[in-house]
Amino acid sequence: MQNSEEKDNYLLARQNMVSGQIIARGIKDEKVISAMRKVRRQEYTDEEMRQFAYEDRPLPIGQGQTISQPYIVALMTELLCLKGDEKVLEIGTGSGYQTAIIAEIAAEVYSIEIIKPLYERAKKALSKYNNIHLKNDDGYNGWLQYSPYDRIIATAAPEKIPKPLTEQLKDGGIMVLPCGPSGFSQVLYKIVKKGKDSITERVCDVAFVPFTRNMRK
Ligand code: SAH
Repeated sequence: MQNSEEKDNYLLARQNMVSGQIIARGIKDEKVISAMRKVRRQEYTDEEMRQFAYEDRPLPIGQGQTISQPYIVALMTELLCLKGDEKVLEIGTGSGYQTAIIAEIAAEVYSIEIIKPLYERAKKALSKYNNIHLKNDDGYNGWLQYSPYDRIIATAAPEKIPKPLTEQLKDGGIMVLPCGPSGFSQVLYKIVKKGKDSITERVCDVAFVPFTRNMRK
């Protein structure tokens, strides 16, 4: 059990984060806002980073990776246009925080993390969700077994959009991901699949960790 004083401290910090960083910057989707109000970000950071859990920035989560800035998590979730009945594929579980936000709204979330210790930690943090399915693997090839997906999100930036991900997206489905060369700023894209074509919207410039590949496979 958490002690109630600690719980209250974080509750206030979380409500302030939602009003000051999320709503103030234009996030309007009520489902996204209420998920951000509910999910305890401090449970997805390292112990020593907890005190910074509601700051307006990404935080290190070990293994050279980061938990994304709260606003970016809200923005990417809003761009997915979730109604509640979707099957979502996520590449880059990381801390599991984005996964939890999506799982609060969508029907099922399938999430792949390439780094084993992060996968193990996210598995523990997300154990209370029965609509989250995790896999420790290279997400480049998606997760064929449960495809096609209504929505796909990647939280690491590939240089080019992996073809298998486009193939595993349903017709009319939406994919949200950062894309571009590592070490530079990348562009956040929202892609709507229309048969063999797609409509691509450039949303904004972002800075994400690179999409890595498991070369042993
Ligand atoms: N949404 C996460 C972001 C973590 S950073 C969060 O807020 O915590 C991006 C994650 O993508 C890292 O954990 C990294 O290990 C993972 N990643 C990078 N390339 C990958 C790949 N090819 N397949 C699966 N995961 C990958």
